[in-house]
Amino acid sequence: MKITGTFLNSKVAQRIAILLFIAAVIPTLLMTALSSNKVNQVVTKYEHKLLLEKNRGYALQAFSNLVYARNYIANSSLQQLSQNINDISVERAKHTVPMFADMVIVAAGALNDPDAASALGVSTEELSSLASFNRNKIALLVGKHSAKPASTRPVYLAMYQGHHTQPYYIISQLSAQYLWGNKAEYPADLQVCAYTLLSHGNKQPIFCSSDAVAANRSSETAADNINHARWELFLNGEFNSEPWIFEVERTQALTSNHLKEFVGSSAYISIAIGSLLAVGLLSLIQIRKTMVPLEKLMDGTEQIKAGNFSAVEVKDNSEFSVLANAFNGMSSHIKKQFETMRSYSTIDREIVSNNDVHHVIQLVLDRMQTLAPEHAYCIARVKEQSDYETQCNCTLVMDKTPLGVRLAVPNQELGAIKQHQQGVFKAVTMESQYAHERLMAEFGAKQLWSLPIFWQGDIYGFICIGSQNPFIEEDSYWHEIQELANRIGTAIASSVREQQLLLEAQYDNLTGLPNRILLRDRLKLAMEHSDKTGKAMWVVFIDLDRFKVINDSMGHATGDTLLKEIAQRLLAQTRDTDTVARFGGDEFVLVLSGDAGESIQISVLQRMMEAIAQPITIDNHELVTTCSIGIAVYPEDGKNAEVLIKNADIAMYRAKELGRNNYQFFTQTLNDKAAKRMQMISLLRKAIENEEFHLVYQPKVDIASGNIVGLEALIRWDQPQLGPVSPAEFIPVAEEAGLINAIGIWSLEKASQQAAIWYQSGYRILTSVNISAKQFEQTDIVDTLQSILIKTGTKASCLELELTETALVNISDQTIKTLHDIKALGVELSIDDFGTGYSNLSYLNSLPMNTLKIDKSFVDTITLKTDKSPIVDTIISLGQNLGLKVVAEGVETAEQVAYLKARACDQIQGYFFSKPASAEEITSMLFSRRSLSSSQKLSLVKKAKG
Ligand code: C2E
Ligand code: MG
Ligand code: MG
Repeated sequence: MKITGTFLNSKVAQRIAILLFIAAVIPTLLMTALSSNKVNQVVTKYEHKLLLEKNRGYALQAFSNLVYARNYIANSSLQQLSQNINDISVERAKHTVPMFADMVIVAAGALNDPDAASALGVSTEELSSLASFNRNKIALLVGKHSAKPASTRPVYLAMYQGHHTQPYYIISQLSAQYLWGNKAEYPADLQVCAYTLLSHGNKQPIFCSSDAVAANRSSETAADNINHARWELFLNGEFNSEPWIFEVERTQALTSNHLKEFVGSSAYISIAIGSLLAVGLLSLIQIRKTMVPLEKLMDGTEQIKAGNFSAVEVKDNSEFSVLANAFNGMSSHIKKQFETMRSYSTIDREIVSNNDVHHVIQLVLDRMQTLAPEHAYCIARVKEQSDYETQCNCTLVMDKTPLGVRLAVPNQELGAIKQHQQGVFKAVTMESQYAHERLMAEFGAKQLWSLPIFWQGDIYGFICIGSQNPFIEEDSYWHEIQELANRIGTAIASSVREQQLLLEAQYDNLTGLPNRILLRDRLKLAMEHSDKTGKAMWVVFIDLDRFKVINDSMGHATGDTLLKEIAQRLLAQTRDTDTVARFGGDEFVLVLSGDAGESIQISVLQRMMEAIAQPITIDNHELVTTCSIGIAVYPEDGKNAEVLIKNADIAMYRAKELGRNNYQFFTQTLNDKAAKRMQMISLLRKAIENEEFHLVYQPKVDIASGNIVGLEALIRWDQPQLGPVSPAEFIPVAEEAGLINAIGIWSLEKASQQAAIWYQSGYRILTSVNISAKQFEQTDIVDTLQSILIKTGTKASCLELELTETALVNISDQTIKTLHDIKALGVELSIDDFGTGYSNLSYLNSLPMNTLKIDKSFVDTITLKTDKSPIVDTIISLGQNLGLKVVAEGVETAEQVAYLKARACDQIQGYFFSKPASAEEITSMLFSRRSLSSSQKLSLVKKAKG
């Protein structure tokens, strides 16, 4: 959830805002209500008190006015008051004092006079009550009728005066103006009234500041309240009268006004709104202060969910920053855990899916470098173990540069590492006791931690961590390293187990040979190889003849021993690049591939059959077994493994049908070819015995002088039934059948004899003899050559051996030595068919050769059409650079001669000059050319050619 702007999207923010609002509004309202109530009470009390005070003031004012008037009367003499008081009954006194409205002097005898009472406006009872007065006694009388204004009744002060002889009463009506003051001066909002209480409890107004109210209120007894005050003026003491009741009443209700004023005042509203606004603002600020860090924490939580562990920043000093710090601590802890788990899972996935131990080690090293990049790491893996030491493959990493090192660790040292299953810390130097310690010291380590890599009790290697300073890593680091070590252990163990399973799955238990499964793989590879090289590949199906009989009669154990022996023999007859597989029971399948130089030869089948047919002694029984072989050739006889095996099997059954102990090709033409070969081999054997061969010689001409400077001996076989057979045809068969040695020696001897004859006849000519690569390998050619030279009396310098380039392709040190020995005899050496062997030219320098013969196929490229033959040019200049003679073979045209001459080729050989010819023909050719010039020689040869 994203909290925005006013935070109102946040439920928490809403709740806090509402709560804060309620918390602010309720007390504000309560406070307002309470304070207004309190204010009201105070104001009411105060106002009431004020009203009381005022009321009392009015009463006291009236009282003091009464007292003053009384005193005035009491202290004034009658004369001062009136001039004619003699014999008075009722006499209106003349007075000049403004406080009195009227003054009447009543003789004592006239008190009961109703006229007097009515003249005065008082009741007769009141007037007559004065009779009981003592001297100077004073009474207050209130007139019966209201004076004008109606609200005011006349008030009289009655005083007994005079002496006993002539007593009289002075009854003075007090001026309303004097007694009550000016009505207009009373506050307009106040109604001030004075009453006397009548005998039946009714109020009789004496004075009211307002006329209307006086009339209304005359019979009410208003209680004291905020708008009403009551005061009883005690008059009995001073004036012998009933008390006067003073009442003040407000004409407008004061309390509500004040309150309304108070509440309605703008100040109050402003304060209330202001405080609410302040509360709102402060709430927002507080919510913001709360929600922003909360939002950050929530974002942080979301980020963690998305795998982002960046720190949350909360800068205030509140609990939120403490929470954020705790959150960041937790986040970084989770991050570590997460990364650890991720690296474990990557490694585990690698172990489960590919289990490439090297890759697992690389992943572990990467992880360890991430954990502490400043350290140097080494993971050593046990490779081979002898009685004394263990060879370990170490991968070292420092500064992200991995390095592979092979380390020989004495077994004792490995034992020491093995002891510390939880790892061990050590200080190391270049002089340390153990090899791994010195290795790490070389990498700059001063402190070392070594941990063995175990799996189920077996040690597979160890981990070293080197540091320049003492280690400060936490326990979790070491724990993780141990976990990683366990994973390497698991990877190595499962790789070992996988290899064992693979071995079990792909190899035959009894013979240890590849089984059908591996055979198919090997066949696939052989087919690919064949496609690349263009050489044929054979699938040879071998089935032992009558094996069942041996198994049944002599028991399975014997049968097993026999099969194991046969397997070994087959292995011995094949090359490392070939496959010998056990197909099942007594069936074996061989995959023979023709490599770059050589095609597969039929003789190999003969060898297999002979090897199998060798007697085997088992438990003192001599057993002889034969086999039947079927061969399918790739790609002719099938494009995939199944078809090839099936066809080889079919061919094998044909061999069985043909009487066992023989081989059959799946394709009939191959069978024919094989049959022809076999026939040729037997004819060759006879030919060697009967000396059916003879030699012919082909001249080599010096291109500059036109002289015959050499002769190549070439073998010829005229077979009585077959006619002439080309050496190109029978030499390979002889090589394959192991007959080349005899033929080669015959040729060498014959050619040497003839060379000696020519030499003795005075022809200084070099005679070349072709030597087969097989002959070169098989015989001690140097000894043979030496004995022939002695036997024939030939000068070594007249003899040259031609070796095909292909014979020199896989040249060994022994071959090079043999060549040097031949050279040391004085016999020259030539490389025949140069350019066809795809050989590595660098070997040329190390060989003691004299001549390079450019193969006919390159000479053929010299035609009229092209004026360039790059290979011929290259070979000529190569020969010249190496100081070798260069001879061009198979030269047939004048153009070729001209071209070769232009490039300073040394010699030419070919039909242009002469076909191979008999020794006699060559002798006469040599003889006839002796006295001729070079041009004559050339034209002579040309004629001879025709
Ligand atoms: P090579 O040693 O390269 O001999 C040259 C071959 O080219 C010879 O074939 C020769 O007759 C033929 N030739 C020479 N000039 C021309 C020409 O202008 N045009 C054509 N079309 N051919 C020409 P040949 O005699 O049939 O010998 C074939 C191969 O048999 C020889 O090739 C050599 O490798 C081998 N060979 C011959 N005699 C012997 C021998 O006594 N011992 C051994 N080990 N191999 C021999
Ligand atoms: Mg040759
Ligand atoms: Mg040649």
